[in-house]
Amino acid sequence: MKIPFNKPYMTGKEAHYMYDAVHTGKISGNGKYTKKCQKYLKELFGFGKCLLTTSCTDALEMAAILIDIKPGDEVIMPSYTFVSTSNAFILRGAKIIFADSRKDHPGMDEDSLEDLITERTKAIVPVHYAGVACHMDKIMDLADRYNLFVIEDAAQAIDSYYTGRNGIKKALGSIGHLAAFSFHETKNIISGEGGMLAINDLHFAERAEIIWEKGTNRSAFFRGEVDKYGWVDIGSSFLPSDIIAAFLYAQVENIENIQCKRKELWNNYNNSFCGILDKVNKVQLPFVPEYASNNAHMYYLICSNAREREKLIDHLKTDGILAVFHYLSLHKSKFYEDKYEGEKLEVSESYSDYLVRLPLFYELTEMEQDKIIKSVLEFYNTYSIEEDNTHSLRRKVYK
Ligand SMILES: *Cc1c(COP(=O)(O)O)cnc(C)c1O
Repeated sequence: MKIPFNKPYMTGKEAHYMYDAVHTGKISGNGKYTKKCQKYLKELFGFGKCLLTTSCTDALEMAAILIDIKPGDEVIMPSYTFVSTSNAFILRGAKIIFADSRKDHPGMDEDSLEDLITERTKAIVPVHYAGVACHMDKIMDLADRYNLFVIEDAAQAIDSYYTGRNGIKKALGSIGHLAAFSFHETKNIISGEGGMLAINDLHFAERAEIIWEKGTNRSAFFRGEVDKYGWVDIGSSFLPSDIIAAFLYAQVENIENIQCKRKELWNNYNNSFCGILDKVNKVQLPFVPEYASNNAHMYYLICSNAREREKLIDHLKTDGILAVFHYLSLHKSKFYEDKYEGEKLEVSESYSDYLVRLPLFYELTEMEQDKIIKSVLEFYNTYSIEEDNTHSLRRKVYK
């Protein structure tokens, strides 16, 4: 029996709502289910305004248009992230300034940001890696002082929270001027491909709708606010079909149940490894700062070196378990390497080489998870013994 890395979970209502959308005959964008999803998520998490998009990538592209990124503008973001975080701004001619990651967590090092700010800096894009909040007070303070926009890449961060210095707990994606979510099938709440732009600075609300609807004021027209609609700005087709929104609605309705199960799985991993892998084997376990919550988007381990990670992944594979790693730091990517002028980002590069993700999905059974846990612990049992061998023997083993 093989254990995949991910398996998209269907609640059972997806096809029902999609059928309803089809049956109603209203299947283009901004229909009944789009509105239902937007309202539900806005109210549940306290966003200013929500617009569903066809992906988080699209939501980020909308954000870049909204803050009026021009060629030469600088945008600060972590190097350890998915390509879309960067592409959205590159497409508008921005220069990306990559920040290093934190030593205790793959998220970007908030204390390194101020040194990266120049006269051309327009925005900071914090990525809430694994759904764990960046230190938003530090980031919003910088944004205030230097007059910058903050666009949260909250692709992984649905149902996750940040508690500020003032003690107020806020949903991730509700803090920056704008925030982008993903409903890709690898995320907690899914629609195959899908995303959402959360607009918290309501100055952007009207223009966001226009950009969303191909640069037209169609939304305002259908609300009866203008008597004809036409081309008023740049834009694109960022809105998903209502069939996709219908699928998403089945997920959104079930968010509590989905999250409950994912957190249980996450805690099982952590309770099984805590005190063993970190103490005996020097494996770094996921860290959740006090101000952050955990939405159980991902369970990862950080090995001590690349060789150890490779051997661990091979060992799991022999047991039929698919574990994966990700994010070649963007400043080292084929596309960006020769454009990169910044410093070496050692911490970010170490996560590219040492981090491994274990299977975590709703339908992972207790038996399957036990098997994964056993396999990891077994690997580290023998791996430590190898490590204890004499230097010469170790060299032989590793060659
Ligand atoms: C998944 C992800 C994206 C892209 O999301 P899509 O919906 O696939 O466009 C962007 N940023 C991060 C951090 C992600 O994890």
